[in-house]
Amino acid sequence: MILRFYSVILDRFKIINDSLGHIAGDYLLKIVARKLRLLLRSTDLVARLGGDEFVILLENIEGIQGAIGVAERIFTELQKSLQVSGREVYTTASIGIVLGNSNYNSASDLLRDADIAMYRAKSEGKARYEIFDAAMHIQALNRLHLENDLRRAIAQEEFILYYQPIIALETGNLVGFEALIRWHHPTQGLKFPGEFIPIAEETGLIVAIDAWSLQAACQQLSLWQQICPQGDLKVNVNLSAQDLRQPNLQETILKILEKTGLNARYLTLEITESMLIEDVESTIELLAQLKARNIHISIDDFGTGYSSLSYLHRLPVDSVKVDRSFVSQIQENGKNHQIIEIIATLSEQLGVDAIAEGIETRQQLKRLQDLGYKFGQGYFFARPMDVSAATAFLANNCPLYDR
Ligand code: C2E
Ligand code: MG
Ligand code: MG
Repeated sequence: MILRFYSVILDRFKIINDSLGHIAGDYLLKIVARKLRLLLRSTDLVARLGGDEFVILLENIEGIQGAIGVAERIFTELQKSLQVSGREVYTTASIGIVLGNSNYNSASDLLRDADIAMYRAKSEGKARYEIFDAAMHIQALNRLHLENDLRRAIAQEEFILYYQPIIALETGNLVGFEALIRWHHPTQGLKFPGEFIPIAEETGLIVAIDAWSLQAACQQLSLWQQICPQGDLKVNVNLSAQDLRQPNLQETILKILEKTGLNARYLTLEITESMLIEDVESTIELLAQLKARNIHISIDDFGTGYSSLSYLHRLPVDSVKVDRSFVSQIQENGKNHQIIEIIATLSEQLGVDAIAEGIETRQQLKRLQDLGYKFGQGYFFARPMDVSAATAFLANNCPLYDR
């Protein structure tokens, strides 16, 4: 006897539940349950595990193709529009499939693997099925360990900030630093943001991590301003989309500024383009409130997201940071830099500063200066450095009183 478990989760259930109410959500679940029952044979089993998740057990089905056939019939059936609360709604499903065999000792192991495959289907773009394999299990375990480690890392203060100098391109003067987080993992060594920020975002841990970054960066800048009071030094801190959704973000920032004694005008928040389009109106309102407090806003990784020209001019931002993928296109032959030219023109029209990141060569610097980029950062000037190296850099680059 071959068993096949399916884990089915409805992709848009939460949206429907939130927008049309719980009674409509319950009704939708009933329709879907009925549809699933009608698709299956009398010997099969379908159960709702909770929320919008269903489990199906098929016995004696022909090969993997038979299993996929059932998944496809489910997709086709769910694709048809449904009438819920007098409205037409559409729903799709993410499906995880696991083939039962003698290696499985318990039903709960089978269910776990069906779930892992289903979450893979969901993260790979929804409305699709995935068949479980052992590599998925290892990946899921690693991810789980990392998530647990990350929770502990906050409590144990395993994070540190590196600082990369930001330079005024015309004069070569140091204007401030961008704070970039690193994680001293107790067994795996130094980890870069690309290895843990995505998981921190998925699990919501990013909010606590970013609050820590903000506090540490403001504290550090306050100290550096005492060492180099004439420098007018600024600090840039990166935020995630989830930070913007926190109703108390402004309050958190203001408290940190107060506690660290930093004047708001020395703080710039970096926000990526993709965060801005999520809910344009409320983002504009939030940014306007921050700006009214003298906090600066910069659009990070500019040019890689979906900036809509129709609202760009309405965003209360102070600068755009052109992504380093465009800066790296500036080559010896002088070709391939249309995008940095367009962004220079666009920022001038919008009345915001253009900042370049990832400057690695003198030639890139020269071209960016010619195009009117005011500020820049990159390995050409300095790599991100720990506090002691950044302090030494500051000591060498603090403008003299009599300048
Ligand atoms: P980002 O804000 O766009 O930061 C620029 C990235 O480019 C940094 O990578 C920096 O080390 C790297 N970089 C700077 N100059 C050069 C260069 O000349 N050449 C090359 N190849 N790379 C250069 P990093 O530190 O790995 O950070 C990656 C991203 O992680 C950041 O991109 C930012 O989006 C995010 N991040 C960093 N710290 C935080 C944080 O505290 N909170 C949040 N939410 N995100 C953070
Ligand atoms: Mg940044
Ligand atoms: Mg960037």
